Amino acid sequence: MDFQVVIVGAGPAGLAAAYELTKKDVQGIAIIDLGKAATERNCPMINSYKICAHCEVCDVMCGVGGAGTYSSGLLNLSPFIGGDLTEFTRNEEEAWELVNLVDQMFLENGAPNNLFKPDKDKVEELERKASSADIKFIPINQRLIGTDNACRVIEGIHSRLESRGVNFLLKTRVREIGEGGLLLDNGEKVKFEYCILAPGRSGMKWLEGQMNKMGIKTQYLPVDIGVRVEVPASIMEPICSIQRDPKFHIRTSTFDDFVRTFCVNHRGFVVMEVYEDHVGVNGYSFMEKKSDNTNFALLVRVGLTEPLEDSTAYGRSIATQITILGGGNPLLQRMGDLRRGRRSYWSRIERGAVNPTLLSANPGDVSIGIPYRILTDILESLEKLDKVIPGVAGDSTLLYAPEIKYSAKKVLTDKNLETGRPNLFVAGDGAGVSRGIVTAAATGIIAARGILQKIG
Ligand SMILES: Cc1cc2nc3c(=O)[nH]c(=O)nc-3n(C[C@H](O)[C@H](O)[C@H](O)COP(=O)(O)OP(=O)(O)OC[C@H]3O[C@@H](n4cnc5c(N)ncnc54)[C@H](O)[C@@H]3O)c2cc1C
Repeated sequence: MDFQVVIVGAGPAGLAAAYELTKKDVQGIAIIDLGKAATERNCPMINSYKICAHCEVCDVMCGVGGAGTYSSGLLNLSPFIGGDLTEFTRNEEEAWELVNLVDQMFLENGAPNNLFKPDKDKVEELERKASSADIKFIPINQRLIGTDNACRVIEGIHSRLESRGVNFLLKTRVREIGEGGLLLDNGEKVKFEYCILAPGRSGMKWLEGQMNKMGIKTQYLPVDIGVRVEVPASIMEPICSIQRDPKFHIRTSTFDDFVRTFCVNHRGFVVMEVYEDHVGVNGYSFMEKKSDNTNFALLVRVGLTEPLEDSTAYGRSIATQITILGGGNPLLQRMGDLRRGRRSYWSRIERGAVNPTLLSANPGDVSIGIPYRILTDILESLEKLDKVIPGVAGDSTLLYAPEIKYSAKKVLTDKNLETGRPNLFVAGDGAGVSRGIVTAAATGIIAARGILQKIG
């Protein structure tokens, strides 16, 4: 097989790259993905609020749409959330233009016109309140596609790309990158003039291995470690009515560490993620199905230098420890119990004001599993947040662990995302250049534009 452009990975990065190339009438494009089409994808565990992050077992991370297909589909319409696009653009204006292009791609393919644009006066008031608690509120526009719409929208992008002549080679794993070509798992070879590698987080280890093999430099990024917080929706309502997924950045008093809120699911559900050797937690929100709770991740950024640079190994060791303590499931603790230095039991949780949405979690003591510095950061951050969101650090508040966001090793490239090997580009979360749907898609467009420049 012979193509002008081959894109590995049909996630937001790969799809947006193809979208951009086909807008300029580039022919001979193939997208290769080891997963299935969005309509064929099935996650047997998703209905039990449990997802599996291991491609061999479950479709949740792999296939057309990538990890975004089963996500709550919240588009953070900012070049500074989920990475920093200005790293790869000439100026901030260009970064915003990319964000708008990504939003347009989703809108053109059926994303609901569900734009959450914070009211200026309310934002000012919230910013003032946050500042007085030593917290930074980050106002952004957000569009909610919703988990139940995401599949239809992705299917729309897929069909449009096919109608523009893009070949989708699905259920096809790329095993190796060679000189001018790819070797597939089925033994076939695919030749290309230009290639974009966008294998997402599920493919980050594979990508790292390929980069090492080719002598292309990669760099460790920090890991985010924390808990998922669950409170009654009424507590978050005043904030979520201003911004759908409110982002707060906090500096902690004792260690001066950076902590942030992430992935707020208003009236959503906490879900369990199953990895090869540990479990984790995450959050979902649906357009139709609602709970009485709101959940969000509270994450402490941990960067390591010497003697251990590998932040992923550190994060994984914490996740594994908590998994052991949770009897193979996530740990759950009431804030009141954590404060008083005692473990949680179902009986005390049931008497509280929050009914957990993840019932497979096991009550216990997160302070045994989370290192002192990170736990101190979490407690201090919740106390600070309580001044902006009264009740968020109440005794009934539930904390689920482990919530860990790993970063891929960042592939070192030029501004067009071209690696040291000519005509080989990278994009998306797997290359460590994004951490979200919009930024992943935007990096796909950057790589596509790099190719367009070369094609001339
Ligand atoms: C549960 C969950 C909820 C999320 N919610 C949100 C949200 O609301 N908003 C947001 O902005 N972000 C969210 N995210 C993150 C978002 O989904 C990712 O940032 C985004 O999908 C990254 O896009 P990508 O194209 O880089 O990679 P991916 O979406 O991971 O796609 C990569 C693709 O590459 C394929 N692949 C990997 N290796 C190979 C190989 N060797 N050969 C062939 N194919 C390969 C995979 O099958 C996959 O389909 C969520 C993620 C998860 C898991």
